[in-house]
Parts: sequence; C-alpha cells; structure tokens
Amino acid sequence: MNETSHERDSMQYAGGDCEHEELDRLADFQIMFDHVLVQIGLNSLNHGFHNDWNTGEKIALVHSELSEFLEADRSKEPEKPDKHCPDFQNRTIELADVVIRVMDMAHHLNLDLSGAIIAKHAFNKTRPFKHGKAY
Ligand SMILES: [Mg+2]
Repeated sequence: MNETSHERDSMQYAGGDCEHEELDRLADFQIMFDHVLVQIGLNSLNHGFHNDWNTGEKIALVHSELSEFLEADRSKEPEKPDKHCPDFQNRTIELADVVIRVMDMAHHLNLDLSGAIIAKHAFNKTRPFKHGKAY
C-alpha cells in the first residue's frame, strides 16, 4: 500500500499524536510559504522593484498598503469586490498587498520569515492574557 504522509498523519492523529501532526503541518507551511515567497520575490525582481533597493522605502510602501487597507475597511462598502481580483473584497486584496510586500522584503534580505513566524507564534502562545498589557 502506498501510504501518503497525510494518511500517516491522520492515523497518528487518531492515535493521539497531535504534536507530531502539528510539527508536520508547520513544516508543510514553511515549504509552501517559502515557495510563494520566492515566487513573489522573483516577480518583484523581474519587474525592476529591486533596482536601487532601499529598505526604508520598502517599509514605507508596506505602510501605504496598510493605509489602503484602512481606507477600504472604513469605506461605506467595506465588502465591495476588488476591481482587479473581483472574487475578493477590496480590503482583502489590500491586506494581501501588505503581505506580498513583506514577503518581497524577506526574499530580498534573505530573512527566514516563515521560521520566524513559527518561532514567534510559539512564543506568543506562552505569553499572558493580552501579553500583560491593557490592550
Ligand atoms: Mg494596494
């Protein structure tokens, strides 16, 4: 029988090996995230956005995408379709723009963003309610 890793995971999950399944899922996330990150970085490179790279400027452009998300969300039609990707709300596409720009920076600067996300999420799970802050 040709058993896939997913089938093995399902059997282990049924047996109570949740931690193993979670680790496999995180590894799958890293593989897929890193694949998309490279595709985004290469597309940006091929469109000339890495010429005269300025990290401060790239960070400002992430801010601009966050502002576009804010404006889309606070509009009187926050659920209106995006004009370029009408299967999605405009605000969802603006949030995607934020993530795409962040992933492009991680690619250009050769940062292990997927690993850092997993590590920081694991740390955040250990923190107190609202991380001990008022909000
Ligand atoms: Mg945008």
